[in-house]
Amino acid sequence: MKEACGVFGVYAPGAAVARTTFDGLFALQHRGQESAGMAVSDGESVTVFKEMGLVASVFDERSLSTLEGDLAIGHTRYSTTGPSTWQNAQPVYRTDGRAGFALGHNGNLTNTEELAAGAGMLGALTSDSDLVAELISREFAVSSDLAPDGTDDALDLVGALERVLPSVEGAFSFVLLDADHLVAVRDPHGFRPLCLGRLAYEVDGEVRTGWVVASESPALDVCGAEFVREVEPGEMVVIDGAGPRSLRPFGEPAAKRLCVFEFVYFARPDSRLVGQEVYGARRRMGGLLARQRPVDADLVIGVPDSGVTAAEGFAEASGIPYGQGLVKNRYIGRTFIAPTQEARALGVRRKLNPLRSSIENKRLVVVDDSIVRGTTTRQIVKMLKEAGAAEVHLRISSPPFRWPCYYGIDTPSRGELLGARMSVEEMQAHLGADSLDFLSLENLLTAVGSDAGGEGFCSACLTGRYPTSVPVELTPAEEREIASGRALAASLR
Ligand code: SF4
Repeated sequence: MKEACGVFGVYAPGAAVARTTFDGLFALQHRGQESAGMAVSDGESVTVFKEMGLVASVFDERSLSTLEGDLAIGHTRYSTTGPSTWQNAQPVYRTDGRAGFALGHNGNLTNTEELAAGAGMLGALTSDSDLVAELISREFAVSSDLAPDGTDDALDLVGALERVLPSVEGAFSFVLLDADHLVAVRDPHGFRPLCLGRLAYEVDGEVRTGWVVASESPALDVCGAEFVREVEPGEMVVIDGAGPRSLRPFGEPAAKRLCVFEFVYFARPDSRLVGQEVYGARRRMGGLLARQRPVDADLVIGVPDSGVTAAEGFAEASGIPYGQGLVKNRYIGRTFIAPTQEARALGVRRKLNPLRSSIENKRLVVVDDSIVRGTTTRQIVKMLKEAGAAEVHLRISSPPFRWPCYYGIDTPSRGELLGARMSVEEMQAHLGADSLDFLSLENLLTAVGSDAGGEGFCSACLTGRYPTSVPVELTPAEEREIASGRALAASLR
């Protein structure tokens, strides 16, 4: 599974912010590696620079020095709607000749077709982010048509957003800018994270205050900003020369539904989400997994990178020593997308190699964060056994994926999800493991500080219970399964 983008924004009056934006994007590289870009305003005009590739290859000293201004947004992309092309790299930019704005988006809309049809744009747009930018842009145009002099009654970016946002559904954390505003918006359920930080900096010996918004808190840390708070679900924060102000364009608050996989896998371990550090939650997942299904073994290893922290928690709770058993090639990136099972299996060998001296003749507990198709896990079990492991006991720090995600995570179709096709016993046999267990949904929710009802979190890909209407066509049997709670019960096992 891949995350669907990182967003960043900064407003520091009088300072040059292109390098700060670069640092913020660099800290969010894990959220998207296909393209990177930034839009910078000098108070009069907005300049956009975007390119395919990693942040460090897209920007260099020369390009950063040409991006002048004290207001900027940035974006790292992994595509879930729209192809991975330069045209779809973000920020998206629109201008009506009178005013321009740029937009960066993390998440997926769930009513894209409906919105596009309503606006007569079906087939004309390349991504859901492009659609939102177009809708905002039309509000500018509509308002200037209405105003006889073209300016007096014209909507600014904030006014256009207040008109457009109530009709947008799904998962979205947006950052936007025009010449003199930075805007951060989080959808009413808050599927994707977004936080606000305060920046203290000096201009000509005078200490000033600036503001930063970012998908994750390490992007604030890296540019020296102090974490202030999360942008609330359903909130729009508008930042200009007067500082930040909070607006509620969606009306009544909805139930909070942060993606639980931000804790399991997507977010950096040093991120702070809903008041806690991700690292601690991952350790608790490992500890609860050890208590849920103990095993007699010699060594606990984690699958790098995101299985490692849960493995440490498992080792601590079980008393079994923790060690390194798989070495990851640090230079592996998203250099290509493997189109077939065979190519994906080869990809695993390129990425991970067993540490023979550590695992030979040992009964191993192997902790990983999730199983999607099972290709990677099967290959890992095979490699470990070929390298001399006596037994391989798989422990997964999340319940089985049984449903696709419609909120900005790139999951395969239901038919490709191993957890949707097989029971745990069948998966164990398919993967060639000596035992297999998944963290129960109840324990996962405990680890992230929720209650048994999942208050505050989305776990739809585990339960089939989507917090919003989604464009999924379920079979009658699947409808009955969700309605009867069997999907939930299976995840709670
Ligand atoms: S469906 Fe799963 S991956 Fe998608 S937002 Fe919900 S918990 Fe996260």
